[in-house]
Amino acid sequence: MSNSTPAGGPLVTGPGDPELDPTASYAIEPDEVAALTARIVSTSGESVGTRSPLDGAPLAHIPQSSDADVREAFVRARRAQVAWSRTSVEHRQQVLLRLHDLVLDRQEEISDLVVLESGKARKDAFDEALHIALTARYYGRTLHQHLGTGRVPGVFPVLTRVEVNHVPKGVVGIISPWNYPFTMALCDGIAAVAAGNAVVAKPDSQTTLTALLAAQLLTEAGFPADLWQVVAGPGSRVGGAIIAEADYVSFTGSTATGRKVAAQAAERLIGCSLELGGKNPMLVLRDADVEKAAEGATRAAFSNAGQLCVSIERMFVADQVYDRFVDRFVARTEAMTLGATLAWGNDMGSLISQDQLDTVTAHVEDAVAKGATVLAGGKARPDLGPFYFEPTILEGVTPEMTVFGNETFGPVVSLYRFGDESDAIARANDGEYGLNGSIYSQDGARARSLARRIKCGTVNVNEAFAATFASLAAPMGGMRESGMGRRQGAEGLLRYTETQSVATQRLMRFGPSFGMSDEAYAAFMTRSLRVLKKLGRA
Ligand code: NAD
Repeated sequence: MSNSTPAGGPLVTGPGDPELDPTASYAIEPDEVAALTARIVSTSGESVGTRSPLDGAPLAHIPQSSDADVREAFVRARRAQVAWSRTSVEHRQQVLLRLHDLVLDRQEEISDLVVLESGKARKDAFDEALHIALTARYYGRTLHQHLGTGRVPGVFPVLTRVEVNHVPKGVVGIISPWNYPFTMALCDGIAAVAAGNAVVAKPDSQTTLTALLAAQLLTEAGFPADLWQVVAGPGSRVGGAIIAEADYVSFTGSTATGRKVAAQAAERLIGCSLELGGKNPMLVLRDADVEKAAEGATRAAFSNAGQLCVSIERMFVADQVYDRFVDRFVARTEAMTLGATLAWGNDMGSLISQDQLDTVTAHVEDAVAKGATVLAGGKARPDLGPFYFEPTILEGVTPEMTVFGNETFGPVVSLYRFGDESDAIARANDGEYGLNGSIYSQDGARARSLARRIKCGTVNVNEAFAATFASLAAPMGGMRESGMGRRQGAEGLLRYTETQSVATQRLMRFGPSFGMSDEAYAAFMTRSLRVLKKLGRA
């Protein structure tokens, strides 16, 4: 297998001026595709074709991995992990900081490929490079704090010395979705390799090329080539083969699949973290700055065309500001620039696939058929791209409608009016999800106090999701059916380690010494414990 990809330069060629050449489609040069796909561990001889959501044109053939290929990926990863786990924390920090620079330097190339494979707006693609640079910098600067050997008090002062180590688990399986193909390929795995593990990664089949470019950048930054293996294929088969071999699994995707992953991990008694779906609420309180809330609401609901786990799909707005908020939110939504192109300038891009378009269409049609009102958007836009759907605001949504409690994972948000804040919080907490919440209010202290009552792993005040997500020291993840475990921060790193306590006992042993009887030893220990309590020992 070759690991060489040409450094820099445009990977993607655009159609030029469609007026001049309406048949031309976006494409990646075949040798670029070959250089990227060479990283996949695949001897099956099978491949699957992918298409770009921008225009539906064929994109690449992705070699598929068999179960034997997945096992081979683990063999290579295990070999690489042994040497990697012995590298110093300082060395790993240097590599992480090089990755930070590399991602910022190569952001155009990364964004081109992300847009081409996912159909998103270029500004949403830029967020991916940004998030990975932030992740690399955070662990690049703090790894020594998290992984350094800690000292805790021993049972007897001076006589018992206890150190706590964080040793890597081994090889971590990373199973990721398509919605943020670059971020999701790397954000969990960076912490895994930083902690001294190797990774076997399975990206979603629709966005494999971006995950391969991500792997290539890791190698260029200085991570050993074999430390990060990429396998490809359907989740039900290749995902299962990964969980059968891994020492820990980090899964991001739907709650339904997360349950299967957790069950298989439990069978093997390995740990897993699950970053799952949400039906995320925003509260606009009566003292909110309405203009700021309306601006935040468009990003909250329509960033990445709503294909974002932390996207806001339910907005609860106080009676006192409801009408003004709705006016401003609808006006801002109608002014959004839409388009499925590689260029900057679009506020919202395409959905990724026909499946996503079908789900979004079904949620809106069901709501309208049962009496909801469309305040903005509401329909597919085949004139812009094959999977394009307008940013959509619904009012009058009721519990019997699919969109009420089910994640749409698209650009559709429902508005609800409230009079009483406690009632709004109860409605925000309704359902089984608990990923992300948002509160708009000019009283920060009161908003933070209300945040504690919202059953979500992250709550953003006067922002939708970005403030927590981009604060890498802050753990991120879901309560209830939105997940288990946290990415980011110390927790995001330490999940990939085993905590090991090493105690060294001096002079006195745990049993009768110096000719003591068992009874005398018991009396001595009883006295010692009483003294230690008086001295304030924990
Ligand atoms: P999905 O669960 O269908 O697929 C996610 C990944 O799991 C893919 O790589 C897929 O191939 C793989 N997979 C599928 N079946 C599997 C199985 N049986 N065993 C192992 N792996 C399997 O999810 P999706 O529809 O692609 O992604 C959208 C969902 O992901 C949404 O619900 C969204 O909210 C969630 N998501 C959550 C976060 C988060 O951080 N909480 C981030 C992004 C997306």
